[in-house]
Amino acid sequence: MKDLLQFKTNNATETEELGRKLGEALKGGEVIAMTGDLGAGKTTMTKALAKGLGIDDHVTSPTFTILNEYEGRLKLFHFDVYRIDDIEEMYDLGFEEYIYGDGVSIIEWSNLIKEILPDDTINIEILATDDEKRNIKISGRGKKFDNLSKELS
Ligand code: ADP
Ligand code: MG
Repeated sequence: MKDLLQFKTNNATETEELGRKLGEALKGGEVIAMTGDLGAGKTTMTKALAKGLGIDDHVTSPTFTILNEYEGRLKLFHFDVYRIDDIEEMYDLGFEEYIYGDGVSIIEWSNLIKEILPDDTINIEILATDDEKRNIKISGRGKKFDNLSKELS
């Protein structure tokens, strides 16, 4: 069974609060797959999550580089796979070493690589319902999702 948490945010600040809480709850080894249209808030959420991991560096969208790495309480590997042409590119990048390591991996546009994501991936889906309102669904299965679910409720 796949579990689901649902949130509604009224503005970017509320999404950031949720992101920060998420970041604080992570224990390492999580793979977070983010989906949502351009401008939904994937990068906004990632930046806040990085703060929750104790990362002080300025987090930018890695669109042109595919991967940015940060060091906080845990390592953060921030992927944006929007420009990926072939899944093979992910293996060339060493994707498996990142996702099966002790750090936290976040992947924007993860729908493009869903066939290579682990079973216990935590999915975050952001849907804009108007200019500032967002429906945020967090789902997953397994221990990592259960822990997050406990920490967030
Ligand atoms: P994505 O990475 O999904 O393309 P971004 O995070 O870069 O999206 O951009 C989201 C934009 O929407 C930002 O300018 C942000 O300030 C704005 N925004 C407005 N309301 C919200 C909200 N409730 N949650 C997240 N972002 C919001
Ligand atoms: Mg983005």
